[in-house]
Amino acid sequence: MAVIPTGPIGVTVLGATGSIGVSTLDVIARHPERYRVVALTANTQVDRLFEQCRAFAPEYAVLADATAAEQLQQRLRAAGLETTVLSGVDSLEMVAALEQTRQVMAAIVGAAGLRPTLAAAYAGKRILLANKEALVMSGKILMDAVRENDAELLPIDSEHNAIFQSLPGGYSCAQVPRELQALGVQKILLTASGGPFRTMDKARLESVTPEQACAHPNWSMGQKISVDSATMMNKGLEVIEACWLFNTKPEQIQVVIHPQSIVHSMVSYNDGSVLAQMGNPDMRTPIAHAMAWPERMVSGVAALNLFEVAQLDFERPDMTRFPCLQLAYTAGEAGGTGPAILNAANEIAVQSFLDKKIRFTDIPNIISRTMEQSTIENGETLGAVLAADAAAREMATAWVLSTAASGDLK
Ligand code: NAD
Ligand code: MG
Repeated sequence: MAVIPTGPIGVTVLGATGSIGVSTLDVIARHPERYRVVALTANTQVDRLFEQCRAFAPEYAVLADATAAEQLQQRLRAAGLETTVLSGVDSLEMVAALEQTRQVMAAIVGAAGLRPTLAAAYAGKRILLANKEALVMSGKILMDAVRENDAELLPIDSEHNAIFQSLPGGYSCAQVPRELQALGVQKILLTASGGPFRTMDKARLESVTPEQACAHPNWSMGQKISVDSATMMNKGLEVIEACWLFNTKPEQIQVVIHPQSIVHSMVSYNDGSVLAQMGNPDMRTPIAHAMAWPERMVSGVAALNLFEVAQLDFERPDMTRFPCLQLAYTAGEAGGTGPAILNAANEIAVQSFLDKKIRFTDIPNIISRTMEQSTIENGETLGAVLAADAAAREMATAWVLSTAASGDLK
């Protein structure tokens, strides 16, 4: 007979020092009787992780970087804390799979989150999925791992969490998929704010700075996803993410620009009904929803005041302003390793833009060159996905160098 654990639910927070990680800990701190932190992880940020260890006293803290882990261990010992400090990817996987952990917040940014997220799936955990890149790269592998190991998959991305909430009760991303049409769904309406450059004169896009790109009008987020929101690659990655989570195809997903970010996405049914989830733009809502599901709990987010919002606008996306969105549809339709190639090229291009090596408008050019130059494989093994990721990174890096040298890609 299975032993049902009692007491607070153990949680591992992967990417604890990031924007989603901090919001997750804010929600957990409101419910000490319900959750306890088993492990916290970060890349290199010793100071922030040290403060988080002081506040939450986890059993484990993991830094990707070994030198940073050594520093953290010394500081924790000096402060009299018993947290065990580890480093490296194997340790990230280990803390995602610990027996005392029942929920894993997957909030590492980019491809670096793939292996730890997979480890949580293989260990049958409830995965709170923020790390959309993991699903974009290896959707089939991650979904199979979830299904074969009785794991749960709850979307944290606000749009996908909204879609999940707007689907019929009892819908599970982890069950063997049914066609959405069989549930009466006609289309998914994926909302997008349009980012900081939605209305900027197109000629000026060439000279925007990383600081401007990271100043999102509605959400406060990490740098990578902020740039992705400015190019709308974020929405493109979300189209692919939605295909995996909700067993559908890109053509069934309509992106809708909604500058206020109050409607977080919608599901359109064949009887004419459109169900939406709304709320203030604050990630603590989807985080609290996914952690407590199927119950509800307080998240710290203020109630939506519709009189203050007053107006909700919707418009079609402009694919010429946002070529990254079209590139993502193309990669999603191609399938196989197509999305992994798109994602890898994007990660390289975005980092190069943040490092001021290329212009904002070079980002889509570098991704499309890399896609044209790559051969798409079926991508059914982790080895194939990682090989496609590595090859695309190499090609994109070469395009960055030639762009930086010539000042132009054309
Ligand atoms: P962030 O940059 O603020 O934080 C990233 C976290 O990952 C940090 O804790 C960092 O230390 C860790 N990390 C980075 N590189 C790592 C590596 N190589 N190895 C181990 N850890 C590493 O990012 P964020 O905004 O919190 O986003 C996290 C994920 O959630 C992304 O995939 C993003 O697309 C997704 N997401 C974020 C938001 C948001 O509002 N911020 C919304 C939806 C989805
Ligand atoms: Mg989102």
